[in-house]
Amino acid sequence: MTNHLFSEIRSRMPDLQKPFLETQDGTVFTYADVLDWSARYANALVDLGVEPGDRVAVQVEKTPDALLLYLATVRAGGVFLPLNTAYTPAEIDYFVTDAEPSVFVCDPSRADALAETAKKVGASLQTLDAQAKGTLRDLAEKAAKSFEDVPRLDDDLAAILYTSGTTGRSKGAMLSHENLASNARTLVDYWRFTSEDVLLHALPIFHTHGLFVATNCLLMAGGSMLFLPKFDLDAVLSLLPRATAMMGVPTFYTRLLGSDAFTRELVAHMRLFISGSAPLSAETHKEFSARTGHAILERYGMTETNMNTSNPYDGDRRPGTVGYPLPGVSVRIADPETGREVPQGDVGIIEVKGPNVFRGYWRMPEKTAEEFRADFYFITGDMGRIDNEGYISIVGRSKDLIISGGFNVYPAEVEALLDEIDGVAESAVIGVPHPDFGEGVVAVVAPKSGAKLDKDSIVSELADKLAKFKQPKKVHVLDALPRNTMGKIQKNVLRDEFKGDFA
Ligand code: AMP
Repeated sequence: MTNHLFSEIRSRMPDLQKPFLETQDGTVFTYADVLDWSARYANALVDLGVEPGDRVAVQVEKTPDALLLYLATVRAGGVFLPLNTAYTPAEIDYFVTDAEPSVFVCDPSRADALAETAKKVGASLQTLDAQAKGTLRDLAEKAAKSFEDVPRLDDDLAAILYTSGTTGRSKGAMLSHENLASNARTLVDYWRFTSEDVLLHALPIFHTHGLFVATNCLLMAGGSMLFLPKFDLDAVLSLLPRATAMMGVPTFYTRLLGSDAFTRELVAHMRLFISGSAPLSAETHKEFSARTGHAILERYGMTETNMNTSNPYDGDRRPGTVGYPLPGVSVRIADPETGREVPQGDVGIIEVKGPNVFRGYWRMPEKTAEEFRADFYFITGDMGRIDNEGYISIVGRSKDLIISGGFNVYPAEVEALLDEIDGVAESAVIGVPHPDFGEGVVAVVAPKSGAKLDKDSIVSELADKLAKFKQPKKVHVLDALPRNTMGKIQKNVLRDEFKGDFA
């Protein structure tokens, strides 16, 4: 079947005069603009030599034009490859060399530094800045505003997203048209998005969350977005009254809760708050409910799989859980070694299968084969359990699992207790080398603003709540925990910093 992501989006479009997106300065892009400008950019790409299956690599600031370029690439049959704006030219060199795009778009300020890289792989180097000015925009302005979409099949690639790769080489996850379309369809239904919705969009668009979960959902629903270049507390507070829904990483919600201006009245009209990309602490979930009357809906996904599970729209949205498998997605909990399913309620590795799961890692067939079971379940690398009502909880990445004296310690269990302690804003539990135990449990905590934390009392608070082997042998207090742009705590940074704790 020919199933083209953009043709599905187009078939679901509302009245073309309806706004799709509004920027902070009030510029509006209607659905008619989406059609015209994605066609112009698609024509520009084809003129630059993009053929079906070619990669279009993009490292640009978050602008409406960057989104239009995504749609244009898909319309031209190309493979969109967004890159984190924080990457240095040296890092970009790795991605571009690996992906061999035929077009590479960067900020004009970086064009000189990246010229050699583009030349090496024969990519046409184009520019687009934070005001959407640059050589690519110039070409699009001159191009025709109609374009005949290149037909694509379900399994043809629409995008490659490189994983953040905290260990080893970053891998390019290949996502097909049907991977993206099926997940967007499912999410629109599950989360009840309609053309009435206005999503507050403050996420980056080089990552699956802001690019696919948020944008594809709203496009498929025919809704609108209030499009911020990044999360800015004041801007978010001032726009919330005009939104019906927001998608965020947990830090968005903790930052909102840190403001007195974030009140029940401000968000009384809101339909939905969704969280994902990193664990939302049960404490934050409860504090949010108490402040606003809204239960945040937490979901779980990853670059390779799109979204896998979600708390229910109707029904209990349980703090500390990521809900049920989404319709069409199979989730099982397996023994990491044998791959056999563990007894109900036990912790194991989360494995998933469904139309959402990616086509493999770009040019890494062995790595791809290692991460799939023989029956095509993808081994996520997240450890979790399913309770007797079917709710799934994540207890940490398998590589973050701590083995102390031969016993498994799941960081999430200890972190949940740390987060309950008065004055603790956030916590991370890591394992570092220990001469007797192999690994020793170390807790790193950050205080709420104005709070003072005492390491000894933190240790004693946990004493009756946890088995001895799970208790932190050492506590560190930092002003804030290191996080990446998606709000994930960088445990590798902490492990490195505290690796000498028991030396
Ligand atoms: P990424 O590929 O950057 O989206 O990262 C995916 C990883 O983020 C997953 O494998 C999980 O470890 C983590 N993650 C995503 N959503 C959640 C969630 N709701 N709770 C806990 N971890 C999450």
